[in-house]
Amino acid sequence: MTPTGTAGTDRARPVIDLHTHSSVSDGTETPAELLAAAATAGVDVLAITDHDTVAGWDEATAAAREHGVTLVRGIEISCAWRYTSIHLLGYLPDPGHRPLLEELARARDSRATRLERMVERMAADGIPLTYEEVLAQVSAGATPGRPHIADALIANGTIEHRDQAFREWLGDDSPYYVGHYAPDAVRAVELVRAAGGVPVLAHPFTRTRSGALDDALIVRMREAGLVGLEAYHRDHGPEEVAHATELAARLGLVLTGSSDYHGTGKRNRLGENTTAPEVLDAIEAASSGATEVLRP
Ligand code: AMP
Ligand code: ZN
Ligand code: FE
Ligand code: FE
Repeated sequence: MTPTGTAGTDRARPVIDLHTHSSVSDGTETPAELLAAAATAGVDVLAITDHDTVAGWDEATAAAREHGVTLVRGIEISCAWRYTSIHLLGYLPDPGHRPLLEELARARDSRATRLERMVERMAADGIPLTYEEVLAQVSAGATPGRPHIADALIANGTIEHRDQAFREWLGDDSPYYVGHYAPDAVRAVELVRAAGGVPVLAHPFTRTRSGALDDALIVRMREAGLVGLEAYHRDHGPEEVAHATELAARLGLVLTGSSDYHGTGKRNRLGENTTAPEVLDAIEAASSGATEVLRP
């Protein structure tokens, strides 16, 4: 069996999905609902990886116990790269590590002002939208992102799915796009390692990104302590998987697979891509042990 597959195709191997979002960032389900959905979908091991925050960990922990799901606590850090961002998954970091927490807080603060500026630009161009409507879509304490602008446009009847907002207004190359503070990718790898966590580059070759990420950056991230590449992901086709496989063999990186589930916010389904048990073992072994994999 390949490291990726459909949930439930081989009951002898656990279904391991290492990248999902809750309403603590831009997923549409609370952490407890996310864990319930994972159990229903037949996922045995789930990682919660909200953007730039660990605020969902406690609720996810209680729900994982309740539903008998093994929980990997993680984050997805947005990192500055050219005029857009690349995403770094950080598994099992110490949630009390000050430098990491300070960096995440700085990014979240900057995300709020950035959304307000995007809304100003859109409203000035006649798109029916106010910042208050956007704020109403962000759960208390959650990391605000562009999907919340899309949600406000769904709520006021302008569009029906987040996809439409991204196609027309929210893309990285849109005139309304405003960036936010984010750490450099190499520094983010160092921070996750310093916090005892395990950095894995999320969907490195996403096709929708303007301009391909260069291998030289991945080499520098590897030198800083990168452990893996998320090869099996909806945004990758066979060519991207082959590229990740070649790089991983050359640099000594593991390959992961995940859904990047966002509830109803994205079409990605839980367990649609999965990670091999041996790779999860390697991730666990590479962590400091400050944050453990929680088994029911
Ligand atoms: P931001 O964090 O504000 O830069 O927004 C990026 C987020 O938007 C990512 O987490 C993506 O999952 C989400 N996103 C990007 N494209 C789409 C899309 N077409 N439909 C729904 N969500 C999307
Ligand atoms: Zn997201
Ligand atoms: Fe991502
Ligand atoms: Fe994600």
